[in-house]
Amino acid sequence: MPAAGFVLEKRKQGEALKKAFEINRAEITDMIKDSGLKGRGGAGFPTGLKMYLCGAAADTIKYVVCNADEGEPGTFKDRVILETVPEKVFEGMAITAYVIGAKEGIVYLRGEYEYLKAGLENTLNGMRKNNLLGEKILGADFDFDIRIALGAGAYVCGEETALIESLEGKRGEAKNKPPFPVSSGLFCHPTLVSNVETFCNIPHIVTGGAQWFKNIGSEKSAGTKLVSVSGDVKKPGVYEIPFGMKVKDLLKLVEAENTKAVDIGGASGIVIPESQFDREISFEDIPTGGSVIVFDKTRKMIDVMENFMEFFLDESCGQCTPCREGTKYFVDAVEKIKNGKITDQELKNLRDISNCMKLTSKCGLGQSSTNAFISILDNFKKELLS
Ligand code: SF4
Repeated sequence: MPAAGFVLEKRKQGEALKKAFEINRAEITDMIKDSGLKGRGGAGFPTGLKMYLCGAAADTIKYVVCNADEGEPGTFKDRVILETVPEKVFEGMAITAYVIGAKEGIVYLRGEYEYLKAGLENTLNGMRKNNLLGEKILGADFDFDIRIALGAGAYVCGEETALIESLEGKRGEAKNKPPFPVSSGLFCHPTLVSNVETFCNIPHIVTGGAQWFKNIGSEKSAGTKLVSVSGDVKKPGVYEIPFGMKVKDLLKLVEAENTKAVDIGGASGIVIPESQFDREISFEDIPTGGSVIVFDKTRKMIDVMENFMEFFLDESCGQCTPCREGTKYFVDAVEKIKNGKITDQELKNLRDISNCMKLTSKCGLGQSSTNAFISILDNFKKELLS
């Protein structure tokens, strides 16, 4: 399957926005719905539906927030988008704002990406000069501008409700849903939060059409996906692949050799062995926010497990018991495995605790924190327990 790249390509600024002004708002929402675009941050919520729900919310104040808090271990594709084509992200935000009726956009930028801020401000200024942001954009009855807010380095702020808390100046902690941000988000106003890559796709869909977009990718995963590939490969970096690409084909592309395991989705993803390299990267098989980490045959899976479990113990905000206590329990379990002291009953208990954390943790961190542990246990049991 060939690589299909357009997300990182430069394009004429304002072309999609101009076209959006020629179509009515409901038609754009339908176009995004029909395209099958799903959130590129990993959760895969349909973007058109999000637009519809936020657009339908009755409020005169609404916000568009770009989630650039790229904190998943192994993910760096949003950084590359923001370094290469930030104007497309901003144009995607402006089109979204036009559709839902927002006047203000905010980019929530990962604290570690502070060095990108000056360049992003320059791009915003250039767009203001060209009347692509500000008042009466391109002569239309539409005012919209974007500002950049810096995060402070907490992984949990990648979760939309924690991100909104942080934007409001509070401690970044996830909140119970509902209400969802599309009805009550920033300062209790309807807020559409989407990932950098998601916004970057929107101008292409508006000019290329829903069908063009749907023709790329797999049956249930339209379009392409940017993946950040790192680890034991000859060509690490950001690759744009059509959804549905097999893991083995991606490994060929990045020139990986003697591969033992691939982590797809970062610390919250799964780790698969060679026997599963025929599987596909897609929402219907293995979804990913963008992280692909390759391990060759010299790597010990217990080290991978330990690294990920310690990451979650560090990053848990501690607000809810299953995640706070569970992440500690899993770090202790890694230590027992390392010392050859884990029992069958304890392994069974770990699965029960993992299920409990999935069902009862408040946010995605706790819900997904044991994915890597369980997949390594399932796929590399002999190595771990010998
Ligand atoms: S699941 Fe973990 S990170 Fe999320 S709110 Fe609960 S304690 Fe915090």
